[in-house]
Amino acid sequence: MAEQKSTNITWHGGQIGRAEREKVLGQRGATIWLTGLSGSGKSTIAVAAEAELVNRGKLAYVLDGDNVRHGLNSNLGFSPEDRTENIRRIGEVSKLFTDSGVIVFTSFISPYRADRDQARALFDAGDFIEVYVKADVDTCEERDPKGLYKKARAGEIPEFTGISAPYEEPEKPELVLDTANQSVEESVVALVRYLEEKGHLS
Ligand code: ADP
Repeated sequence: MAEQKSTNITWHGGQIGRAEREKVLGQRGATIWLTGLSGSGKSTIAVAAEAELVNRGKLAYVLDGDNVRHGLNSNLGFSPEDRTENIRRIGEVSKLFTDSGVIVFTSFISPYRADRDQARALFDAGDFIEVYVKADVDTCEERDPKGLYKKARAGEIPEFTGISAPYEEPEKPELVLDTANQSVEESVVALVRYLEEKGHLS
């Protein structure tokens, strides 16, 4: 937990709540937390699922690792402490989005189980959907969409997950997308089906 530095602060409630916002949107907010190795397909699946939902008239939004590091988290690196703070901030932002009624897809490696669990702990049951985007290192390295594995193997990127930094697999994710064996479309179908079954789309 980050140190609480501000004092004399009081929560100011609104005149309307999440239920009213969700009624306007015709959906139930959620955070779909995609975790997996670099190149496993998190961002590809997140943007495809976002498009699918918006095409169905649902409001979805992607919070992407690299994008967030351009702004909100531009002062954080890849040390274990900074990765933890990165995930803590994303958790808090996702919680706000979820409270606004939006269906959020987060696309972060989030390699540490404890950090993901800490993010989960911010949410009410059912609002946090952990999705393991599963592909082995060899598959990801073969894809290497950003050339990062090549750089990591050459020693140009220290603390690279899967090569020189650990990835802790989820133990009880709500969903596993086996991207070494299923297409992007199949993953999107599985995600949308899950959201439908859990009542997020009505
Ligand atoms: P991540 O966000 O996990 O780092 P990306 O989505 O940026 O991964 O990159 C995954 C790459 O793998 C993309 O170039 C994508 O087109 C490719 N790819 C190939 N097969 C699949 C699949 N079945 N599911 C997801 N991505 C796939």
